Amino acid sequence: MSGFTLAPNEDQIAVRDWLHGFARDVIRPAAAEWDEREETPWPILQEAAKVGIYSLDFFAQQQFDPTGLGIPIAMEELFWGDAGIGLSIVGSALAAVGLVANGTPEQVGTWAPLMFGTPDDVKVAAFCSSEPDAGSDVAAMRTRAVYDEAADEWVLNGTKTWATNGGIAHVHVVVASVDPALGAKGQASFIVPPGTPGLSQGQKFKKHGIRASHTAEVVLDNVRVPGDCLLGGKEKLDERLARARERAAAIARGEKAEQVKNAAMATFEASRPAVGAQAVGVARAAYEVALEYAKTREQFGRPIIDNQGIAFTLADMATRIDAARMLVWRASWMAASGQQFTRAEGSMSKLYAGETAKWVTGQAIQILGGNGFTREYPVERMHRDAAIYTIFEGTSEIQRLVISRAISGLPIR
Ligand SMILES: Cc1cc2nc3c(=O)[nH]c(=O)nc-3n(C[C@H](O)[C@H](O)[C@H](O)COP(=O)(O)OP(=O)(O)OC[C@H]3O[C@@H](n4cnc5c(N)ncnc54)[C@H](O)[C@@H]3O)c2cc1C
Repeated sequence: MSGFTLAPNEDQIAVRDWLHGFARDVIRPAAAEWDEREETPWPILQEAAKVGIYSLDFFAQQQFDPTGLGIPIAMEELFWGDAGIGLSIVGSALAAVGLVANGTPEQVGTWAPLMFGTPDDVKVAAFCSSEPDAGSDVAAMRTRAVYDEAADEWVLNGTKTWATNGGIAHVHVVVASVDPALGAKGQASFIVPPGTPGLSQGQKFKKHGIRASHTAEVVLDNVRVPGDCLLGGKEKLDERLARARERAAAIARGEKAEQVKNAAMATFEASRPAVGAQAVGVARAAYEVALEYAKTREQFGRPIIDNQGIAFTLADMATRIDAARMLVWRASWMAASGQQFTRAEGSMSKLYAGETAKWVTGQAIQILGGNGFTREYPVERMHRDAAIYTIFEGTSEIQRLVISRAISGLPIR
């Protein structure tokens, strides 16, 4: 008998149903209010912490699900509730991925719990890679990290932008350039502990969507962090830099050279299917509203779903959502079972799910007609929220770049 199955197991179904209840009863009813307020929904985070959803334990448990489906199932349900509030709940987990991808077990043990705080004292964390002139082009990063050997401290200077939870985070994970000559290969990630002088919030952005999630600039002005805040440690960094220098020299000699991973990309690779799962949740939410509406809204004496023009659109919406989920699950399963993304399967999942969310939510507005265009109904918010999924964690164009390079083996530009 084959061991292959796409059916969630009992534990996964139990977690899914529990999260769905929270998303339905707590997140969805609060979604419009926090979208208008454009603030972090602290009361909802506290409620999520009390029931154990906003916690390191919960995310770690899902992360360690050997099938890989724990995280995508959780993401889909929470973001089905609302993407802005969902991102506020999982933003710290995305920063924790930056820590886990590059940190030692000791560093993870020290910093990960502080990223979430406790149910009585909830905290958030931020992952800061993007800069005003370095979004897709991560190698153009200007934030510098210089080692002060005498003090065994790293000194960080620069400006990060669009950081989720930036400035309000208890713990910031900051990617900085240690050796600018090596581009992305010369970067490393650092923990900036709570209350470190020199780190401040710059502009807080007013956004098109996911407005319940805080997005801001983070200014680093002579920020000094202890030597052991370098994720992975100095020895490992020195080895990696030496390999990158050798590689650069080999390329200069016209030889083929081994790839060296960079810090920010390691985070993105690990989190792309999870972000795709969020997009699936948003798409499914809008599709369900549209399906219900199409069955009850009557024009020309019959429900609008009686028209193929509407029913076929709903059929396409359902099909694309299922296809997106399958790509997300495949990538998540591959990652959990230690398989390399040789065809950029993580990027495929994020690309397709992000584009699907944008398309499905747009179609949902069309099906709801005038009502869809108003804030009386949730689909316009879902459409605004969905737009982020073709932009952050690598735009759709960058995902296509990664996929086309992977499938062709050529340096497509
Ligand atoms: C709400 C929000 C939250 C965010 N959260 C975080 C966070 O927590 N941490 C963090 O570090 N960053 C975060 N970001 C930043 C996000 O990852 C970047 O916005 C994203 O990587 C795109 O970079 P950019 O905005 O500079 O766009 P650009 O790189 O300037 O791209 C502009 C356009 O050009 C296209 N383009 C660029 N290069 C190419 C190319 N080679 N080929 C084809 N097309 C190309 C892009 O696809 C895009 O359409 C967040 C952004 C937003 C809006």
